[in-house]
Amino acid sequence: MRKGLLFIVSGPAGSGKGTVVNELINSHPELKLSISATTRQPRPGEAHGVHYYFISRDEFEKRIENGEMLEWATYSGNYYGTPQKEVLEAMENGIDVILEIEVDGAMQIKKKIKNSVAVMLTPPSKEVLENRLRGRGTETEDVIKWRLGRAKEEIMLMPEYDYSVINEDGGIKKCAEEIYAIIKAEHNKTIYTSQIIEKFI
Ligand code: 5GP
Repeated sequence: MRKGLLFIVSGPAGSGKGTVVNELINSHPELKLSISATTRQPRPGEAHGVHYYFISRDEFEKRIENGEMLEWATYSGNYYGTPQKEVLEAMENGIDVILEIEVDGAMQIKKKIKNSVAVMLTPPSKEVLENRLRGRGTETEDVIKWRLGRAKEEIMLMPEYDYSVINEDGGIKKCAEEIYAIIKAEHNKTIYTSQIIEKFI
């Protein structure tokens, strides 16, 4: 059976990553979005087991010790990590898995999982990024400044990624389809398809 592949989607706050990944999953429900564990508090409308597994710091540290995290990182003072078992099982069953994670975690996955594919979503410019972060109207000036700084650091790591996709204003569907095209193309790599040669021998 064809094995599933692992796709990382990273992008700074303001890249529209969450919306793009939702669009991708909604229009291609055969893909599985990994649900991360985090120690941050749920935001209004977020549910345990749907958006994240919301767990305590003690529980998170226990899971790291037990080797239950495929990768983990701290972001804004909280732990975030990918539960290993669910992801590996899905891949074994031929399902492509999407991880929506930040850059430290993405680099861990690239080292650990051969053939994982990393896509970075970026805003088209610094100005657009800043407008988007301010437009949310939910964060204090300090938080906005911190997020802008962090966004720049993350974008600088783009050369470590396999692909990048630019999210222009109003470009959600286009970005989702570009990522889907990447998924399709990865499966057509000859390392996965060359058994067809045997049929011609
Ligand atoms: P938020 O708190 O806004 O949902 O997420 C903050 C950051 O953590 C985002 O960049 C998001 O992609 C990242 N993130 C979410 N889940 C994980 C995870 O399992 N591992 C890592 N390394 N980062 C994650």
